[in-house]
Amino acid sequence: MKTLFFVLFFTLAFINYAQNFQLPKLNYEFNALEPYIDEATMKIHYEKHHQTYINNLNKALQGQDVTNLSLEDILKNVSKYSDAVRNNGGGHYNHTLFWEILTPQKNTQPTAHLKNAIEKQFGSLDSLKNLMTQKGLSQFGSGWVWLIVNSEKKLEVTSTPNQDNPLMDVVKTNGIPILGIDVWEHAYYLKYQNKRNDYLQNIWNVINWEEVSKKYEKIVPKGIFDDWSAIKEFHKVMSSTFHPSEEGDLEPIKKRSQELLDKAKSLKTSPIPNELKSKVNMATLDKLIKDCENVHKLVKSKAKDSEIIKALNQAHDTFHEIVGQCKH
Ligand code: MN
Repeated sequence: MKTLFFVLFFTLAFINYAQNFQLPKLNYEFNALEPYIDEATMKIHYEKHHQTYINNLNKALQGQDVTNLSLEDILKNVSKYSDAVRNNGGGHYNHTLFWEILTPQKNTQPTAHLKNAIEKQFGSLDSLKNLMTQKGLSQFGSGWVWLIVNSEKKLEVTSTPNQDNPLMDVVKTNGIPILGIDVWEHAYYLKYQNKRNDYLQNIWNVINWEEVSKKYEKIVPKGIFDDWSAIKEFHKVMSSTFHPSEEGDLEPIKKRSQELLDKAKSLKTSPIPNELKSKVNMATLDKLIKDCENVHKLVKSKAKDSEIIKALNQAHDTFHEIVGQCKH
């Protein structure tokens, strides 16, 4: 009876406090990434190395109340934990991400949204690959090279030693990793021996750009107007004339009423992306054109400021009706 009580007591205590991390499922076979990453490396890397990080992480967290914390929460405050949590928590997070961003599927491509961001930041996808390869080569000893989204929502390439990662409050460059490459020898030694460069050149063949894009778009969502440049153009003129008018400054609208009208007209003549075409009511577009015509007429006839403001408000309301339609 007494024994049973203790067993029950410790079981409950364990359930209460232990955060039991587990090996995530691998979505492809160990040999699926051949010839770029060999079967034996994959098997040992996943079954032995990753599992060991998880076992040691669970051990290191025993007795600490972290039930309500995600691994990300822990890593963001990792300075408050032991080195064992830092090394093994990092190890678990990093490898989980690594398996996700690899794929046997050939020639996956980043989405247009991610590709634009890459080209804006690095010039081209190839220069990003080169930069990450160089970072991986110059990382002394074991570590990781990362593509992250930083606090300004910009892409950045960085590297960390050991099992550190950019989420941790103990590293120099913080951000959310969307692509991580393991440059520990255990990731490539069986096939590539000391030739880290060959490993880094080859790994690009099995990077899952669809998954990397998904991670990117979760952090930096695609805007509803990203594919409709005419409305972005209209919005630019609308916001730089309407907002000053709210402050009593009518100079911008007086200078640009013709331009506002032209941009409104081009909403109907420019190509509307199919996904929006079905949502936007054409009558609302006509109304917007009429509203802008009205603003322009009042400006030209040197109407009273209060009348121009009223007309511009109306055009602005109609614009937001269109925005609302696009969102549904
Ligand atoms: Mn590894």
